[in-house]
This record gives sequence, C-alpha cells and structure tokens, in this order.
Amino acid sequence: MSETQHFRKHGKSWEEIVAHCRVLVLDLDFPAVRAWKQQTGGKAVGCFPVYTPQELIAAAGGLPVTLYGGRGLLEIDHADSRIQSFVCSIARSTLELGLANHLDWMDGFVVPSICDVARNLSGVWQRNFPGQFVFYLHLPQNVDSASSLVYYRGELERFRARLAELTGRAVSDQALQSAIRTYNRNRELLAELYRRRTVQPEQWPASHIYALAGVGNVLPREEHNQLLEAALALGESRPRPKRDWVRVALRGMFCEQPPLELLEVLEEAGCAVVDDDAQIGARFFLEPVADNGDPLTALAEAYLHQTVLTPVNNPGQRSRSEDLLGRCREKWIQGVVFASAKFCEPALYDAVRLKRAVEHAGLPTLEFEYEEKMTVFESVRMQAETFVESVLFFS
Ligand code: SF4
Repeated sequence: MSETQHFRKHGKSWEEIVAHCRVLVLDLDFPAVRAWKQQTGGKAVGCFPVYTPQELIAAAGGLPVTLYGGRGLLEIDHADSRIQSFVCSIARSTLELGLANHLDWMDGFVVPSICDVARNLSGVWQRNFPGQFVFYLHLPQNVDSASSLVYYRGELERFRARLAELTGRAVSDQALQSAIRTYNRNRELLAELYRRRTVQPEQWPASHIYALAGVGNVLPREEHNQLLEAALALGESRPRPKRDWVRVALRGMFCEQPPLELLEVLEEAGCAVVDDDAQIGARFFLEPVADNGDPLTALAEAYLHQTVLTPVNNPGQRSRSEDLLGRCREKWIQGVVFASAKFCEPALYDAVRLKRAVEHAGLPTLEFEYEEKMTVFESVRMQAETFVESVLFFS
C-alpha cells in the first residue's frame, strides 16, 4: 500500500501526515526507496542537488532519489580520509552515506556540474565505488550562447543512452513525454503549496511545507502528487491562530540543507518564511516543460530559459538581485535572512551581492552560516528574535 493510500485508509490528520513525511525525509536508511525496489525490482538512482533532469530516470523505469547528505545525523568516520575536510558538509556526508552502506540500494549516482566540490565528489565517488554507474552531467554555463541548446540537448542524449545501459530499457520519446507531464503536475502542486504559504504563512508553516515537499525526494513522483493533493485538501481545514510576525525570504539553502530545527527556530522567533530556496531543484522550472515535440529539446529549452535563479545557474544573465527584490515587493516581504551553508562558496559569494542590494533597497537583513551537524540553535534564535523585534518596532 502506498503512503497516500495508507493516509486515506486510516484517516490521518495533517499533523500525522507531516510527521510521517518528516520521518521519511530524515531516515538515512531510505525505507521508502527500499520498499519501492522490493515492489518493482527497478533501479534507484541517487541525484546530487541542485537540479537533475529526473524525468529521464523516471522514463527509464528508475526511481530518482535526491540525496541531501547526512542531514546532521551521521558521524563522518570514513569520508574525511577520502575527501577534503574543508569542503561543505553535504559533499562529505553524502560520501559517508555511501561508505557506511546507507546507500547500498543505489544503482547509480548522478552529479550535476554545479561547483568544483560537486565535480570533485563525482571523481572521488568513481574511485571509491568502482563499477557503479556514475554520471557527471555537464550543464551549460553560458546559456546565452547560440550553441547551448545543441550542446545541452546532446548532453541529455548522452544521459538517455547511459540510463538505457543501466536499466536495460530504452527511453522512448513517448515515455519521456509522459514523465514530463508527471513532473509538470508535481511542480504545479508544489507551486500551489508554496503559494498558499505565501498568502497564509500561519496556516502553512514553512517547516511543514519542507517535509511535504521533501518526501518527494524519496517517492515516485506519481505517489508524491497524490500525497500533495491530499495535503492541499487537508491543510485548508485546520485554521491556526494568526501571529504578529515578520514576513521574510530565506536564501542560501539551494544545495546543502539546514537542520529542520533551524526552520522551526526561525518560525518560533517570529519569522514567517514566505519565500525560500530550500530543496529548490524540485521547483526549478517556472513554467511547465513542453510535453509535445522533441522531449530532449523541451528539457534543454526549459533549463536554458525558464529556471529559477540560484548561484549555480543563471539563465539569460537575469539579475539575481533584481529577482530577489521583485519577489520581496510581490510577496510583501519585510526582511531577508541569508542562511548559507558553511564552506559553500557559491552561496557565500552570492550572499555578499544580494545583501548589499537588499539593504540598499531599505530592507533589513539577518545573516548567519549553518552546518548539517549544527545542534545548538540558541544563538540563531536570539539573532532572529532581535531581528524580528527590530523590524516590528522600528521599521
Ligand atoms: S553546498 Fe555549495 S559548495 Fe557544496 S556542493 Fe553544494 S553548491 Fe557546491
């Protein structure tokens, strides 16, 4: 029985669904993935953040699983002897997950070319897991070049061929179009979930939304879609008291994820998170991907022209500062919290420019770094409470 059928059959409440999703998100033994493999006999493919064209894996009959490292729940016992200790936590703890056999279900690993650390991890992985399917996906860097479409479509074709070798199943255009439709529906449901949070943050707490969205990283998209439909229906019917709080945007969480407690502490301190870049890969496209015509061209076009902006992709050289300020205006945001993963150069470099632009526009900011293994949140709580008070009483 699927997770969603289970919820429906047993008449679960919103809190129970969220709690269950949270357990699945944080379980480093990936029980949902193991159950899927047992039921289907299919291949499960781990995907490093930020964005992988998972439609191709699904169309090949596989299960794409986004890996977000050790979630702060893993001791690094083996990885530090195989990868630099001064890189971000997610690279080290993802390797540790593999070395400590938490990923023994994994039939393949895809690493997109988001940064030097990811590139290095892909090579280190190949050395440490010889014989495993590892695919380093070369994303186009200069998206304004006329050659980018041809180049990236070719890269997707290469990925399609390698996946067919892994799964033993050729990926037809029809299967890929069908997967694109399923993923479009998933992005539509996620967009609706986040839209409702923007309108009524007290009704749709960011930490709950995080768990509901995050469970999609370990479930087939069809099942995640059913779960989101159930959650959207249920979430409206449980009014929560309004609060005096400050509407904020969160930036810096596009790849390595903070401990979930960090989101909860920010909310408890009075920050209503109405815009964020956490787990952004599942929400990467701003428009539905075309589900007719050549599906590889459609995926390539979408990557080149209609993605959200993050420090590791820059479609059309749009200004990330302008984009953030536009979102602040549109969503009545009163301040921006820059929470960046320690040692994440893309996030930390970006924060400098964005913070300057936000402050120049007259909006207050709060900035700190986090690590996966962070367990003490009192300092962040105090900073957030002071930030909220200063916005509420002095703006
Ligand atoms: S957290 Fe930052 S530095 Fe680390 S892999 Fe992700 S983008 Fe690269």
